[in-house]
Amino acid sequence: MSSPPTTPAQPSATSHPTTPHAIARLTHAAHFAGRAHKAQQRKGIDAEPYVNHLLEVAELVAHAEVPGDFEVVIAALLHDTVEDTDVTEAQLVAEFGRRVADLVMAVTDDKSLSKDRRKWLQIEHAPHLDHDAKLIKLADKTSNLRALVRTPPVGWTQERLLHYVVWAKAVVDACGPVDPLLERLFREAHAVAEAAYGRVDGEREDIP
Ligand code: ZN
Repeated sequence: MSSPPTTPAQPSATSHPTTPHAIARLTHAAHFAGRAHKAQQRKGIDAEPYVNHLLEVAELVAHAEVPGDFEVVIAALLHDTVEDTDVTEAQLVAEFGRRVADLVMAVTDDKSLSKDRRKWLQIEHAPHLDHDAKLIKLADKTSNLRALVRTPPVGWTQERLLHYVVWAKAVVDACGPVDPLLERLFREAHAVAEAAYGRVDGEREDIP
């Protein structure tokens, strides 16, 4: 809040983040996401409302050193809707437009695949995501690692926790350079999680 707003490279009448229209779309996305995930809680012992995660991811994306425009923040709010709720891609297109839907779909796993396969594909696909999708991916993993330490998932073994920490870093590493500030925040979250759950050196082969 204290730093001056960054002027988008090519602002337009409809995309400038301070227009009432943009703010209306952003608040609509927050409301839409909250409703879509209303029955969901985080896996942690605190059972936080799921929307807390979405708000954190959106906040991180908005604070990127080189942030995307407000549609990237909208997509961050919606990034788990198709994967985890009844919301469809077509609904996102109708409500928020093609670009937001494309960003959400770029970070949506195919739930018809096994969990191990999905985790592996996140690493495989990460280098090919566009910059805006990588911002969401990086923010998502940062939020998840923070939650892993702040309120660990119920019933997860030490091994499973460590496995997640290693995998999250593998996904972020696969993204390559994205944004200096978000990368630093991820590194901090990763260091805390690694200190909490242990460390595996160079065991990339163990990642599913
Ligand atoms: Zn997420």
